[in-house]
Amino acid sequence: RDAANAGRSVSVFASDLRKRLARSRAIEDGLWASRAGAGISLLYQPKVEIHSGRVTGVEALMRWSHPELGAISPAEFIPVAERTRTINPLGEWLIRESLRQQADWRRDGMDLSMAINISPVQLLVEPSHASVLEILVDECARLDLDRRKVELEITEGMLTDERAMVQVRRLADAGFSIGIDDFGRDHSALSLLVESPANTLKIDKSFVDNVLRNPRQATIIRFITELAHDLGMRTVVEGIEHIRQLVAVAGAGCDYGQGYFYYRPMCAGRILDLRQAA
Ligand code: C2E
Ligand code: MG
Ligand code: MG
Ligand code: MG
Repeated sequence: RDAANAGRSVSVFASDLRKRLARSRAIEDGLWASRAGAGISLLYQPKVEIHSGRVTGVEALMRWSHPELGAISPAEFIPVAERTRTINPLGEWLIRESLRQQADWRRDGMDLSMAINISPVQLLVEPSHASVLEILVDECARLDLDRRKVELEITEGMLTDERAMVQVRRLADAGFSIGIDDFGRDHSALSLLVESPANTLKIDKSFVDNVLRNPRQATIIRFITELAHDLGMRTVVEGIEHIRQLVAVAGAGCDYGQGYFYYRPMCAGRILDLRQAA
């Protein structure tokens, strides 16, 4: 019986793997076919200053509608785009589109910061292509945007990637803000923060998820925030869904919050409805 079960689970595994491979290939083909920007849209999730409740900025989040598979989460298609290098044209489109939007909102009376997720692959682009730095500098000049109000979100894994960090330092030296995304999700070496050029630490949602169940989580959040402040950084807490979570992280001294409790990611047009909150 055990052998029969084992045989069955191997074949289930094999067919599951086949399905996943087929899906991944369909995503890959779709990404190539979509070219930069086609079928891709951006949503914006507001970032709120906790003590005042003011909306001070937004984070751009990609959405993609696949011709056959329908809506696909960036958590699924970004890794494929990274592996196939389609992230480079996609990322360039994202930068131009989100900065144009930021300039449009400013013209309409909302001066918001713009957070853009940057994948490490984009920083290691071949020399024949325009670098992320060049694209950002050009667009900010053309649109007359304040570079400090453009925040590039990198993941903590990149802190140990020497080649990527050379580029991150150049971006920081050029005056762009740097945020460390999902901080604490993986094995964080706190010592890496000392050398990092980041202005912001985004504390991973997993801390907030557990904050009500285990009060010691709040202690950790307070500790990370105090450390960040001592190093000259601000903290953003991601994934706040309930008011009691907000109360807990506010008590821990965090500067900014993001999450469904405040606002879900929304289309650009709806951001102007928040003008009174800005
Ligand atoms: P991230 O940068 O950490 O973005 C936060 C994710 O958490 C977003 O998911 C957002 O919709 C979700 N979120 C925000 N508040 C809440 C909440 O209160 N509850 C819950 N359950 N979720 C919340 P999304 O948009 O699916 O993005 C997932 C990840 O995909 C992002 O994580 C980011 O790493 C990546 N990503 C998204 N857009 C881009 C992009 O344009 N470029 C790159 N390189 N990566 C992107
Ligand atoms: Mg992010
Ligand atoms: Mg994040
Ligand atoms: Mg996260």
